Amino acid sequence: MASGGEKLSGHCLCSAVEFVTLAPPISTVNCHCTDCRRSTGAVFGTVLYFRQVDVVIKGTLGAFTHLSDRGTEISKQFCPTCGSNLFTRPAAWPDLIGIRAGCIDQSAVILPERNVFVDSRLESTPLDPTLPSFPRMP
Ligand SMILES: [Zn+2]
Ligand SMILES: [Zn+2]
Repeated sequence: MASGGEKLSGHCLCSAVEFVTLAPPISTVNCHCTDCRRSTGAVFGTVLYFRQVDVVIKGTLGAFTHLSDRGTEISKQFCPTCGSNLFTRPAAWPDLIGIRAGCIDQSAVILPERNVFVDSRLESTPLDPTLPSFPRMP
């Protein structure tokens, strides 16, 4: 857990986009939805959610907006140079921004709290049995 307001930092593969966070994450999830799989190319996506006001981004982002599981818009933001998938912005929670865990420098503070959308996980993907699991987003 990021304690005491520890600042996190991160960047995309080519470093054209950088960010810092000013407060600890609100929640951290392992998301097994098909959208996370396709947009990241990984078998699941770990996302840290922050308040948008607590994330400072430097650099130009591309965006792709699509409909989420619940039918609301969600934007995936990425580096247009190297293609790294960095941020997710759900219209259903306009004050929040999700940061893809793989882009964060301080790997020791990435502590997922729950598995979500396990209904759509790949059968070969192991689930951390110490975490609560939810069929969709709770
Ligand atoms: Zn980049
Ligand atoms: Zn997802």
